[in-house]
Amino acid sequence: MKKPILIFAILAITIFSSACRNVGIPKETSVDVSKAEWAIVIHGGAGTIKREFMTAEKDSLYRAKLAEALSVGSEILKNGGTSMDAVEQTIHVMEESPLFNAGKGAVFNERGQNEMDAAIMNGETHAAGAVVNVHTIKSPISAARAVMEKSAHVMLTGEGAEIFAEKQGLEIVTPEYFFDQARWESFQKAKDKIDKHGTVGCVALDKKGNISAGTSTGGMTMKMYGRVGDVPVIGAGTYADNATCGISATGHGEYFIRNVVAYDVAALMKYKGMSLENAANEVIINKLKPIGGSGGIIGLDAEGNTIMTFNSEGMFRGTVSSNTKMVIGIYEDEK
Ligand code: ASP
Repeated sequence: MKKPILIFAILAITIFSSACRNVGIPKETSVDVSKAEWAIVIHGGAGTIKREFMTAEKDSLYRAKLAEALSVGSEILKNGGTSMDAVEQTIHVMEESPLFNAGKGAVFNERGQNEMDAAIMNGETHAAGAVVNVHTIKSPISAARAVMEKSAHVMLTGEGAEIFAEKQGLEIVTPEYFFDQARWESFQKAKDKIDKHGTVGCVALDKKGNISAGTSTGGMTMKMYGRVGDVPVIGAGTYADNATCGISATGHGEYFIRNVVAYDVAALMKYKGMSLENAANEVIINKLKPIGGSGGIIGLDAEGNTIMTFNSEGMFRGTVSSNTKMVIGIYEDEK
């Protein structure tokens, strides 16, 4: 190539590539820094969480457990694992800890039993699974996943769910496994009022762009035998849709069922074009708070934007993504 032609060619390539940058023509190698490759957000329940009722030791136990749960999920996502695995494994950490109202340490119903609900949903396929009022399945979230993946149904209750879980090879324990002394004492104190919030939840976005959401709970202290909360009701306490968001809720379940909270957030995004943050505020702050529906939600969208929105005095919560550092919070004034 002659020298002037070569100079002209180099010049033309330079001008063209800078024009591409300016008008934002996507190049295969370009990385959109605003979009997270992966993201995860968790909650460990919402309610009356005041510093004066929390010892420094308990405070750090909660924070450490939330960080441990987030680390388990984020390792899976970093290594290219699915959001479904991340949600299930992250929730296992919290189910196995008596600090939270799910699995071991679940609250007691009016009969003094631990009666648990859980649900999980796949935002790519909209497949969902839930178990309701189970007493012997060590990990209700894994049972919910088994219902989704191994049965033709969305929801199984009580003994039917337990028989199914056992057939699927899930670990079955005696009801005593879930007993926690501190919960028992608060059950004794709360005998005639229902006020205990708890629950654990996780929403994750994986490198393939798939969102999953899961929630696991013991429900509310002193709930009636047989009561079902919002957690296993798809669209109320748990929802996932790649095109909008994944949501996991915690709070006074009856309000979350009546207001179809998780789906309402997704619907505001889908039909009104709202951002996840605005939709979450609309539902949790503007709609639920005035009617006394205390609690909160965690969620994320396809870009990896996360929210941890609540109208209660606190919510155990945390999030981390490929482009944000881990954040853990408990009280309202840490927002
Ligand atoms: N939402 C749960 C229920 O009503 C309780 C909670 O989140 O604390 O069963």
